Amino acid sequence: MTEQLFPRSLLYNIEPIGIETGLVESYSSYLIRVAYEHNITVGHLINKIVIPKMNKDYLERSTIYGGNSFYEGAKTINGFTDNTKNLIKVMELLTSREDLAYLTLYKLKGIIPLRNLLKNSLSWCPDCLKNWMDDEKIIYYPLIWYLKSVKVCFAHKRYLLEICSSCNKKIDILRRNMVPGHCPNCLELLIKDIFREEPGVQEMRWHTFVYQNTETLLGMSNSQLDFIGSQERVFKQLNLINEDLFSGDIANFAKFTSIPKTTLRDWLKRKSSPTFNSLLLVCYKLNIKLSDFLLQNNTKNVKITYGVKKEYVNKEKNYRKPLDVVAIENSLKELLVCDTPISMTAAAKIIGRDKRVLYSNFPDYCKGISKRYSEYIEEKSSHRIQLLKEEINSAFYSLINKGINPSSGKIEKYLNKNGLLREKILQDHWRGLLTQSNFSSGEGEVLFNDEFK
Ligand SMILES: [Zn+2]
Ligand SMILES: [Zn+2]
Repeated sequence: MTEQLFPRSLLYNIEPIGIETGLVESYSSYLIRVAYEHNITVGHLINKIVIPKMNKDYLERSTIYGGNSFYEGAKTINGFTDNTKNLIKVMELLTSREDLAYLTLYKLKGIIPLRNLLKNSLSWCPDCLKNWMDDEKIIYYPLIWYLKSVKVCFAHKRYLLEICSSCNKKIDILRRNMVPGHCPNCLELLIKDIFREEPGVQEMRWHTFVYQNTETLLGMSNSQLDFIGSQERVFKQLNLINEDLFSGDIANFAKFTSIPKTTLRDWLKRKSSPTFNSLLLVCYKLNIKLSDFLLQNNTKNVKITYGVKKEYVNKEKNYRKPLDVVAIENSLKELLVCDTPISMTAAAKIIGRDKRVLYSNFPDYCKGISKRYSEYIEEKSSHRIQLLKEEINSAFYSLINKGINPSSGKIEKYLNKNGLLREKILQDHWRGLLTQSNFSSGEGEVLFNDEFK
């Protein structure tokens, strides 16, 4: 064998975590880890190493790998778009691996539609991350956390977080600067959890079902997936259930599963396809596992328990939980004094109730939280202005010491902050410096001979 058969990979051959298990690593997590292991940023990995390997035709066709739009497009990177496919090919080449497609939902392509399948931002279990850190295990983000239907960590019986507890911001799926286990916005560890909300018993039943069935699906073997084949299998199974269990009575089937009749009819006629969440809901209502639904050829194992309480309604927004006044009040009290002040939007998200509902029931707490947050933001911004003013001062005098005209352009260049002095308050500050230093013109062009320029 010659050496060429084994081209040296440009990147270390880093092993993905949990392949063919329900806790398989996501592809975006893998990219973050590869960058981290090479001591480079995700931005460097993508722009300097991956993109140059993309085929020319592809790059001409799409300009997405230039600016921010790459990171915008990264929302579906763990799915099964052409972009994902291309990126996988290149990374496989670079790392000499052949299994990176397993880190995406690629194997479900054709079986489950992409519509409403993936979350738009990162969600994570702070307890899982903390445990891995404590045990000195590799920090990664499992693929299952990226599915829109998955809201809880099964191991910790808790909701996944979607907002960083340190800066109250959402986290993009992929950013230029990302370190495993850290928030790219504030750089804090993602193990903080200022307010822990426990799911109710009924909700947890549904969320557990979703989690376990998703885990099974992600861990399915190739032969099982080959057997399922395509979406046609889903349509067939729905029709089989309709005939066998509901004697073709769509109204009954619809009523039982809480799926609107017209929607269900469209599925049965293959006019539209159920989203992953709808499919889970149908299985939940019928009391069957999703894997059985997809893999079994008869309805023998489906034991419909008629009279199942309608505790779960499809659309969350239609789902009006009674207000647990005491619990909400306690949460608001805690949020009013939490370490980093948060906005009412974030508070409403954490509590899981509409902001308006909270305002109308607990106006004082809400106003308090909101006021505290605005004061905090104001203080933060005046702190920022203060720091920038100090930087401008030092640039201003350094330039003068070097005999350079401290014009706005020169200062911005010196500080490497383009457009800085376009901000009114900073511009005024700079003009003040000019006046103080006896420059007669606001443009700072006087007093300097050509030789100093
Ligand atoms: Zn967990
Ligand atoms: Zn943060």
